[in-house]
Amino acid sequence: MTRVCLLVQDAYGMFSEVHTEGTIWNNQQLEGRSCSLTGVKVLQKATRGRTAGLFSLIDSLWPPAEPLRAPGPYLVCGEENTHLPPPSFCYILTTHPDLGRIDVTEDPISKFYQPPVTRSLRDVLQTVHPGTRCCFYAQVIYQRPQLSSLLLLEQREIWLTVTDVTLQTQGEDDAGLPHTMLVCVTSGCMLAPDVQEALTEAAPHNFLFRDALRDQGWLVCAERTVLLLQKPLLGMDTQTGSYELTGSPRLDELGPNTQVNSICSVQGTVVGVDESTAFSWPTCNLCGNGRLEQNPEDRGALSCRDCSCVVTSPLLRRHLQVFLHCPLCPQSTVKVKLLQASISSLLRSAACEDGTYEVQSILGKEVGLRHCFLQSIATHPAHCITLEEIELLKAGRASVESHRLPRDP
Ligand SMILES: [Zn+2]
Repeated sequence: MTRVCLLVQDAYGMFSEVHTEGTIWNNQQLEGRSCSLTGVKVLQKATRGRTAGLFSLIDSLWPPAEPLRAPGPYLVCGEENTHLPPPSFCYILTTHPDLGRIDVTEDPISKFYQPPVTRSLRDVLQTVHPGTRCCFYAQVIYQRPQLSSLLLLEQREIWLTVTDVTLQTQGEDDAGLPHTMLVCVTSGCMLAPDVQEALTEAAPHNFLFRDALRDQGWLVCAERTVLLLQKPLLGMDTQTGSYELTGSPRLDELGPNTQVNSICSVQGTVVGVDESTAFSWPTCNLCGNGRLEQNPEDRGALSCRDCSCVVTSPLLRRHLQVFLHCPLCPQSTVKVKLLQASISSLLRSAACEDGTYEVQSILGKEVGLRHCFLQSIATHPAHCITLEEIELLKAGRASVESHRLPRDP
């Protein structure tokens, strides 16, 4: 059974939230329409103090688009419509499972209806106050945790790094604006099946974030926030900021203001290696599996259970964390867990013949701009920033193949 939650407003300007069940009332068809509700009962009276999330949504629709028809709970007789104080209470209603009905009474869009106003991310950052709802288009370029299963989506926070054209192509007046924004999708945010599926795909998707909450440093998708999956757009729409990223997105460089859970670009000089956590292990050269078995009867040859074959030339994988001196964080200890490709390029000139390497030969080497996820910031005993090198979400193989035209008839 689909649960539907509707925000309704009557001719007196009174807001109510209707909780209902059933598949016959499609959200899309009801939005903006005048309806008659029958078989409803009051579940509770909601006040601003106790249901801040609901009132932040009501505030985004206040004052009413149309003068109120008659004096009501929000309007004393003779009062001007334009200077109405925002509502301090509303009702939570529920429909009777058998007798409840919602009927569209007028075809045209209601005069009270205020369609969502989408803003660019620059606009959100510069004009939307904390605790306020906002709507924006954005592309997700990184996600944490990366979800491989729909089951993992339930009851957990997902941190999305998003961007749009206004943050990526900044002018001279935009100094101080970040190139990306953090969005926290809380477990209270209901996600439609297609959105859930998109979040498990590990590909850059475009979403319309409807009624997300602006928090101090990031945006929050909470109860009553709706995520709508958008089809990839060609080109860009400067009005809404919606666009399709063509190259690698620009990230902000690691600095004193970089937040935990956000991503940044990092460059610096190697000043140390965490030798206590450095190790390497052989992997299957066919499937990449690291759980190889040693066969004592066959002079210790390695075999891969997944491929069921003897691995004659195993690939060596390494775990390596380095300490960097970063120009924008000179006072901090910056520790980065590197990806295999970065480790390989770092060790290429430092490796001895037996595969080991000298720490001394790595020190002083430059690590170029790498994309990193900021895991934690410790302030005691020293200011230490722990990062993990990452790969940004890339468009899937399917979309790459769709661009490839057949050459032979
Ligand atoms: Zn294998």
